[in-house]
Amino acid sequence: ELGLNGKCVLITGASGGIGCAAALAFAKEGAKLALVDLDWGERTQAVKDAIAQTGAEVEYIACNVADFDAVEKAVKTAHERFGSLDVVINNAGITKDGLVMRMKEQDFDSVIGVNLKGAFNFVRHAAPIMTRQRSGRFINVASIVGVVGNPGQANYSASKAGIIGLTKTVAKELGSRNITSNAIAPGFIETAMTDALSDKVKAELNSHISLRRLGKAEDVARLMVFLASDAGSYISGQVIGVDGCMSI
Ligand code: NAD
Repeated sequence: ELGLNGKCVLITGASGGIGCAAALAFAKEGAKLALVDLDWGERTQAVKDAIAQTGAEVEYIACNVADFDAVEKAVKTAHERFGSLDVVINNAGITKDGLVMRMKEQDFDSVIGVNLKGAFNFVRHAAPIMTRQRSGRFINVASIVGVVGNPGQANYSASKAGIIGLTKTVAKELGSRNITSNAIAPGFIETAMTDALSDKVKAELNSHISLRRLGKAEDVARLMVFLASDAGSYISGQVIGVDGCMSI
C-alpha cells in the first residue's frame, strides 16, 4: 500500500512520453489525475485511450505552463474537481538547441519560460493549497544536463539547473508545512524529445551509459510514484538521477 489511493496528482506535459507513463503509473495506484498539456486534441487521442483503460478519474486541462494566469486557473480547476491537490509533477519541457554563440534570444527565453518559469508557476499557485492542507509533494523534472551542462543546450541546461535551485528552496521554505520538494534528473530516456537527436548523438550518449540501455519513461515514472508515496515522506530537497549511471 503506497498511500496514493484517492490522492489528486497533477502532472504537466502529461501527453508526452514521461508524463503519460507517470499518469498510467499513478492511475494504477488509484490516484485521481489532473493532466495538463498544451492541448488535448486529436494528437493526444492515444494517450487519452490508454488513460481511459485504467478507469482512473481524470480531468484534462489545456494550459500553457509558461502562462502565469493560465496556471492559476489550471490549479483551481484541479482543486475544485478533486477537493485536494496532493502531488504536483512539473514535467512539461521543451528543447531549442543551438550553440550559445548563435542562440537566438527568443530560443533562450522560450525554453526558460516553459521549463523553469512553468515549474515556478505551479509551485506559486499550488503551494497555498498544500499549505492549507498541511501536506503536499512537488516533483520537478530536471535533467543531468542541468548538473553537468551540455554543448548546444545552454538554454535547456540553464533551465534545468534553475529547476534544481527552485526545488531546494521550496523544500527549505515549505518543509515545516509537511510539503516535500524533490527533483528528478533523467539521463537519456526514449521519448519524442530524444527521438529528434541524430543517430550519431544517440550512439555517443549510449556509450556513456553503464547499464548499456537507454532509459524508458517507466523508469522515471516509478521514481515519481515512490517520491509521492508514503515511502517518500522523509525525502526532500534532493536531486535524484535516473540515468543508468551516465552522470558519474
Ligand atoms: P515529450 O516531448 O515527450 O513531452 C513533453 C510534453 O510537454 C509534451 O506533451 C508537450 O506537449 C508538453 N509541453 C511542452 N510545452 C508545454 C507548455 N508550454 N505547456 C504545457 N505543456 C507543454 O518529452 P519527455 O521526454 O517526456 O520530457 C518530459 C520531461 O523530462 C521534460 O521536462 C524533459 O526536459 C525531461 N527530460 C527528458 C529526458 C529524455 O531523455 N527524454 C531527459 C532529461 C529530462
